Amino acid sequence: MERLIDLGVLPIRMKGARGYKPHFSVLFRLDVQRIFGIDTSYSPNVEQILLITHAHSDHHGNSAMLSPKSIASEKTAKALEIRYGCRFTGMTFKTGEVIDIDGVKVRTHPTGHTIGATAFSWENEVGTHILATGDVKDVSHLPKCDVLITEANYGDPLDPGCRFEDDTEGFKAAIGEGVAFGAYPFGKAQRAVELLRHFGYYDEVEMEHKSLELTRQLMEGAEPLVGLGENGGKMSVVPPWHLHRLPDRLDKFVLTGRECQPHKRIRISDHLDFNGLIKMVERCSPEMTIVYHPTGDVPAKFAQHLNENGFSAISIDEITNVIVA
Ligand SMILES: [Zn+2]
Repeated sequence: MERLIDLGVLPIRMKGARGYKPHFSVLFRLDVQRIFGIDTSYSPNVEQILLITHAHSDHHGNSAMLSPKSIASEKTAKALEIRYGCRFTGMTFKTGEVIDIDGVKVRTHPTGHTIGATAFSWENEVGTHILATGDVKDVSHLPKCDVLITEANYGDPLDPGCRFEDDTEGFKAAIGEGVAFGAYPFGKAQRAVELLRHFGYYDEVEMEHKSLELTRQLMEGAEPLVGLGENGGKMSVVPPWHLHRLPDRLDKFVLTGRECQPHKRIRISDHLDFNGLIKMVERCSPEMTIVYHPTGDVPAKFAQHLNENGFSAISIDEITNVIVA
């Protein structure tokens, strides 16, 4: 933590009546003192900018999208609007653009986790480069930095389930008549359609309502798409919890990095696996890493592993600076 203070970065957590707010905020100086919230929720009492990396609900309070102080990519804002049925009132940008946030020059970098998923980087008064990634699938657009703020969904070094490669060949082999893929409506469903088109499947894909709307509005090259049951069940993409409602004659698979009973699984993840996370840290070569996601003890395990292997790191639970918001 002292090293972070040398670098001019103070991580703080906000606490409300119901306990800690999601994730944390970064206090730094550039002319004046500023606070950027990283995938956190709106607190009327705290003057802070909210950076939303992507449209998964575990990455922001629902209130964040209603705050004029929120910043999200155009596609993330659109996805939030479709998912929650209300208008995004913050500022938007095209991923890859450099944006001006209250006089701070912030660069934006795609992370490949979902459509619209964006990492943010900026420099503080003492020249420290800070990079906040959100969830990451593709590290190729991430810059070097001094302080890396990142996830560790598959960051447990001792869990064999955290080391894998995407089974795109398994996906390809599963493509056929009467197949249903179970995929979360935002993120995995678009990846399923992308893979189908990539492997030359150009027929109609039936999709559950929300998945269909998100895919149609956010993804280029996805059509032809139709509603469920409109093409005789030849090829469907539905949420995993919807698979059991489809006819038994269909061949059903769930696309996930995790075990998923009772259906057959095809290992396709929207996250880096453990080795990928390590490669990301090596690539960004930070002086300090702050592991802030997911909840549970995996961020601490990943931070410990980094510390034992030549990288300095802390996890979110080590942040002791608290503001009552
Ligand atoms: Zn996510």
